[in-house]
Amino acid sequence: MVYWLFFLTKLVMISALTGAMKRVAIIGAGISGCSAANVLCALGGGGVQVEMFDQGRKEGGRCNTRKHKHHGIEHIFDHGTQYISPKNSEFVSVIKDWEKVGIVKKWDSFRLANIACANGKSKIELAMSAQQNERFVGYPGMSAICEHLIDSELISTKFGKAVEAIRSSDGGWNIYSKDSGALIAENFDYVICSERKLCMNFMAQQSEQSTDGSPDGTSPKSSPCIVAMVCLDEDMSDMMKNMQFTAAMVDGNEKLSWISVDSSKPGRVDDGKSRLVLQSTPEFAKNIIEEVNLEFTGASVKEIRNAVVKASEAQLYNTLLDIIEDATECERGELDAKKPLFIKGHRWGAAFPALGTSLEQEGRCLVDEENGWVSIGDYFEYPGKVEGGYLSGKAGAKAVLHLLDRQAK
Ligand SMILES: Cc1cc2nc3c(=O)[nH]c(=O)nc-3n(C[C@H](O)[C@H](O)[C@H](O)COP(=O)(O)OP(=O)(O)OC[C@H]3O[C@@H](n4cnc5c(N)ncnc54)[C@H](O)[C@@H]3O)c2cc1C
Repeated sequence: MVYWLFFLTKLVMISALTGAMKRVAIIGAGISGCSAANVLCALGGGGVQVEMFDQGRKEGGRCNTRKHKHHGIEHIFDHGTQYISPKNSEFVSVIKDWEKVGIVKKWDSFRLANIACANGKSKIELAMSAQQNERFVGYPGMSAICEHLIDSELISTKFGKAVEAIRSSDGGWNIYSKDSGALIAENFDYVICSERKLCMNFMAQQSEQSTDGSPDGTSPKSSPCIVAMVCLDEDMSDMMKNMQFTAAMVDGNEKLSWISVDSSKPGRVDDGKSRLVLQSTPEFAKNIIEEVNLEFTGASVKEIRNAVVKASEAQLYNTLLDIIEDATECERGELDAKKPLFIKGHRWGAAFPALGTSLEQEGRCLVDEENGWVSIGDYFEYPGKVEGGYLSGKAGAKAVLHLLDRQAK
């Protein structure tokens, strides 16, 4: 703490003396990029200017909330991160701070079930007692967290542009877009990158020893996931409530891996209807993406994407009906007749770090001091978790501040 106070005073003095703000480009405005931006502003003493670049329409990345208007009704879902269950003490205190400012709340009604599927039948087992670990959710939606983290005048954002390349020049780092290879922004002192492929490309260029560029030769890979966001009518919602769970791990099913009753989270619309998020297995997502690609050879990326989500929506929803049928002994014909009020799929091409390919052993980020490049993301410590992304971004920001400190000596 004392060190950071001393350091902060020094940074203010440096920027006052030189009049030069240090410019940091952050690629990716998910939780890791937003955490880095937040820490740079909080500890940078006003001497660091942050510019964020993201291909999406807004911040949040996989920790996000989707809104759809359908027949005059607004449906809101956390279609990526479902909840946060902090393990690390540093992150536990961050969650406490977020709870105080009201951007996260405990998911008090969280009731976990395990759904075991075998031989075409499913069996629901409710967890015995209240869960030991507390589950937190963004309030009023997951997107509140990243929105809060980058709410600063020192942070500017450029959305809707995919970055293709980041190259160094005499003036510093320059950022180029994917559409046309055009220069988007230039002369950054440091780059903090949370986009896995750009990071791997950079490391590959730097490292001649390792074939794929990552420190130990393992390149982090990711697995896909498709989610279906579903709103059930009152009848079906009552059936769901009778099953008594608000979240379920699905075991042994080739299509479905997770069910969240999103509407049971605090602050969500309370209109008597259940809104669910159905999460596919990675294998299902991989297979259906491959099948559709084969079937639609020559179609545009958008057409293929739409075909993938359409085919997945129906299959994931039907799997849910199989489970309800087994749990309630309701006639299948009756269930089929009750169409969902709303259903929409979403494809996450890179949902989670693939098993065995994270860079956990490297700590929380990778720092190239000589070039002023820091790689962050959720494939370091606590892989595939918001916790990992947050801690990685924080570590990346601190690494840049240390480099600035060293430069000033
Ligand atoms: C369906 C699903 C459920 C999940 N459930 C949970 C859960 O319950 N609990 C939990 O802790 N974690 C969960 N996770 C994982 C969690 O969401 C991630 O670990 C975390 O959000 C990763 O944050 P990140 O900033 O590292 O990456 P991201 O959120 O992916 O951020 C990277 C950003 O980079 C942008 N980007 C990518 N390429 C480019 C480019 N070329 N140019 C510019 N921008 C680019 C993307 O748009 C994105 O915004 C879940 C993830 C998914 C998909």
